[in-house]
Amino acid sequence: MNIKELVKPNIRSLRAYHAEDLPCRAKLDANESPYPALSSQQSAVSVKNALQSLNRYPDPQAISLRKLLATGLKVKPQNILHGNGSDELIQSLIATFGGPVLYPVPTFSMYGIIAQSLGERRGAVPLDEKFDLDIDKFLDAIKKRNPKLIFLSSPNNPTGNSFSYDRILKIIKRSNGIVVVDEAYQPFSSKKSFIPMLKKHKNLVILRTMSKTGLAALRVGFMITHEDIVNEVNKVRLPFNLNSLSQKLAAAALSDEKPILANVKGIISERKRLMREMKKIKGIIPYPSDANFILFKVEDSDIIHRMLLKKGVLVRNMRGVVDGCLRVTAGTPGENSEFLRMLKQLMTK
Ligand code: PMP
Repeated sequence: MNIKELVKPNIRSLRAYHAEDLPCRAKLDANESPYPALSSQQSAVSVKNALQSLNRYPDPQAISLRKLLATGLKVKPQNILHGNGSDELIQSLIATFGGPVLYPVPTFSMYGIIAQSLGERRGAVPLDEKFDLDIDKFLDAIKKRNPKLIFLSSPNNPTGNSFSYDRILKIIKRSNGIVVVDEAYQPFSSKKSFIPMLKKHKNLVILRTMSKTGLAALRVGFMITHEDIVNEVNKVRLPFNLNSLSQKLAAAALSDEKPILANVKGIISERKRLMREMKKIKGIIPYPSDANFILFKVEDSDIIHRMLLKKGVLVRNMRGVVDGCLRVTAGTPGENSEFLRMLKQLMTK
C-alpha cells in the first residue's frame, strides 16, 4: 500500500518544519532565551502545586493566566486567547477565517506551512531591499487577492528588523480581512507595539509568546484582540489546549516579571555587542535587528554553518529562506564571545 497516495494533495507536497537538535556547546539557532524565566526553586513550588491535581483536566479557559496577562497588558481577560505556543494560534486563526492568507517573504515559515496544511490559498509578497514591507506591492496584492488573513511578523523572523509603523498601519486600514501583527520579538524591540491600536481597529490581532523570554518549553502563546474575534477563534480551540503545568508555571513567572525584564535587557545589550563586533569582521554583513537574533550574510553560508558546528556553535542556516545567510540568536555573554571568536577565526583563514 502506498501511504503517500492516501494523503491529501496539499499535505503530500508539504515539507515538515525543520528544527535541528544537534549536539553543541552553544545553542544559538532557535531564538530561545539563554535564561530560564523561573528559578528551579520557583518552578518546584508551582510543579508541586500542579502535581496535586494531575488526575484533573487543566482549566480550559486558563482564567488565572489570562487575568495576569490582561493586567500586565492593560486589556481585559476577554480580549485574550491562550494557545499551545503562538504556533497553535496561527493554526486556529487560519482554521477560523480561512484564506487567502497573505504574508511578506522572507518571514516566519509557519504562516505558509499551516495555510497549506489546512488547504487554504496563500500569497507571498517580497520585502523591499531593506527588508521592509514593499507597500505598493503589498497594497496591490490586497486589492487583487482580497485576503481573509494577513500575517506580519514585526520584528520579522528571520530578518530581525521591525517593519515601518506607518506601512503596517496602512495595511490594517486597507484590508477587508484580519491583520495579525505577530509580536513574538516585541520585548526586544525599541519600536512601539501595536497593542494601543486595538481600540481603533477591529480587524487587528496581536500575537505574543512566552517562548522568547525564557519559557519556550512550556508552549505558552496568546493573542490579544477584539472580543468578537476571541469568541470566534475560541470555537476551533481544542478544549484543554494548555496543560496545567504550563498554566501554573507561566502564571508564576508573570506574578513577578522583574527577572524576565532584567534578562531581556541583558539580551538586548548582548545583541548590540554582537552587532558591533560582527560589523568588524571582514566578509560578514550583519543586518540591523530589533529582536533577540541577528541575520548575517557570509560568502559560503553552508561551509561556515558546518565549521561553526564542528567547533560546538550551532546557528541557523537560512538556505532556501534567505540564501547565503545565517541567523544567530543572542546567547549568554560567554556563548556570544565563543561564537564571535570562532567566526573571526573562520573568516580570517
Ligand atoms: N511567530 C514568530 C515570528 C516566531 O519566530 C515564532 C517562533 N519561532 C513563533 C511565532 C512561534 O512561537 P511559539 O509557538 O513558541 O509561541
